[in-house]
Amino acid sequence: MKLEQCPFCGSHHLSVEMKDSSWDPRYSELHVICNDCACMSPIYIWNNRHKNNSVNYRLERVS
Ligand SMILES: [Zn+2]
Repeated sequence: MKLEQCPFCGSHHLSVEMKDSSWDPRYSELHVICNDCACMSPIYIWNNRHKNNSVNYRLERVS
């Protein structure tokens, strides 16, 4: 799976690790960790967040 750049600092220095789920600690999920600003989120949210940010940015520019 292709990883988007960090939505906070734009870094491509990313690690992927299995971590306990934020939603349910009985499960583990693949998380993306930014090595530059130390933010972390589940991999599916990481890529969604980036998409959402792009959409918001476009909407802001139009209005
Ligand atoms: Zn970052």
